[in-house]
Amino acid sequence: VQRVREVLEEYRRPETVHVSLSHHSYDVLIGPDLISRAGARLAPHLPQKRVVIITDATVAELHLPRLLASFEDTGIRADVISVPGGEESKSLACYGEVMNQLLSTGIERKTTIVALGGGVVGDLAGFVAATALRGLPFVQIPTTLLSQVDSSVGGKTGINAAAGKNLIGAFHQPIAVLADSSALATLPRRQRVAGYAEIVKSGLIADPELFAWCEAHGHAVLDGDPAALAEAVRQACAFKAAVVAADEKEQASVGGRALLNLGHTFGHALEAELGYDGRLLHGEGVSIGIHLAMALSVELGYAPVEDLHRLDRHLRSLGMPVSFDWFRESFSADILLRHMTRDKKMQDGKVAFVLLRGIGKAFTTREISSETVRNLLIREGCCP
Ligand code: NAD
Ligand code: MG
Repeated sequence: VQRVREVLEEYRRPETVHVSLSHHSYDVLIGPDLISRAGARLAPHLPQKRVVIITDATVAELHLPRLLASFEDTGIRADVISVPGGEESKSLACYGEVMNQLLSTGIERKTTIVALGGGVVGDLAGFVAATALRGLPFVQIPTTLLSQVDSSVGGKTGINAAAGKNLIGAFHQPIAVLADSSALATLPRRQRVAGYAEIVKSGLIADPELFAWCEAHGHAVLDGDPAALAEAVRQACAFKAAVVAADEKEQASVGGRALLNLGHTFGHALEAELGYDGRLLHGEGVSIGIHLAMALSVELGYAPVEDLHRLDRHLRSLGMPVSFDWFRESFSADILLRHMTRDKKMQDGKVAFVLLRGIGKAFTTREISSETVRNLLIREGCCP
């Protein structure tokens, strides 16, 4: 039995992506059953055997008992604060409530905040950790594909303001990230698709091998195959960690972290128009956004049309949005353009675009005229 256990443990050994930053570095562990073994995995990193878990109601029901049991087994005291699921929990009101609850439990500077949930919980809990007592240690246990490949790596935390999404926030790096592939088994397929769009995006930006891997294994990822999911998360995390290490606070004037915005200028405009009510998931906006970025790149003569066809073929084969026909509503090019000019990545009144010289060759530019974008949107099916 001992030998079987050892071999089993070997099979289950998580992959590690090391995130190396100038003042701080940490590991992202990726593999099955990490939530059940979180206590043992985290104990060496915790400054105090005390944590406060912030989670949402849906995730609490599915995954919290295993996490609590594992903390209990390792003698770590854990309190829980639960918020309602959904983007509304990234509000100032909810932030205030969580903060007051947290402070009423008598936390100390060495108490660690643990985010258990998707990007909403990660962003909210991270911002709470960044600001409570001027900064507490922070651990991410992301439970959506999107949060495992994207929001849990990079240290951006924040909440939404009336004026827009993610306008209040801080950079606050975690001390560890546990990406449990088993947790993704309960995730609805539509949420997996949304996370998958960010993986395809990573390949398009600078990793043509990842893009080719997606073409071969995308179906398995979306069907929830655990090995394919873990491999996709490993590759996408490694990619994001490399980009973040090169430009931690998004200060590079060309390229850098801004490249991660490929497809997002268009995607955010659609999200702003539809109002974050669940009609469009962020990743669905990114899917059509990367198609539009490639289409614009082809039109301006940067990218070969074959790469546009290859991208569209891949997204279509998985039922992901590639055109405005995917939506029930019709869009106005002028209104989408107006949303783009409200983007927080504007500089001197110019909209930042990420374009492509082909698959795996992204670059940033502020030289695209609004007339060019407007014409593209109309050709792609928007009304003027
Ligand atoms: P989410 O956190 O709202 O999760 C989506 C839904 O899935 C929720 O209803 C949640 O309760 C449920 N859920 C979570 N895990 C589950 C599981 N294992 N099984 C079943 N259901 C589960 O959404 P998300 O897509 O993970 O994150 C979106 C948020 O992330 C946005 O607010 C976005 O701004 C943010 N984000 C942040 C960064 C960053 O760098 N900080 C990057 C990308 C996105
Ligand atoms: Mg995104």
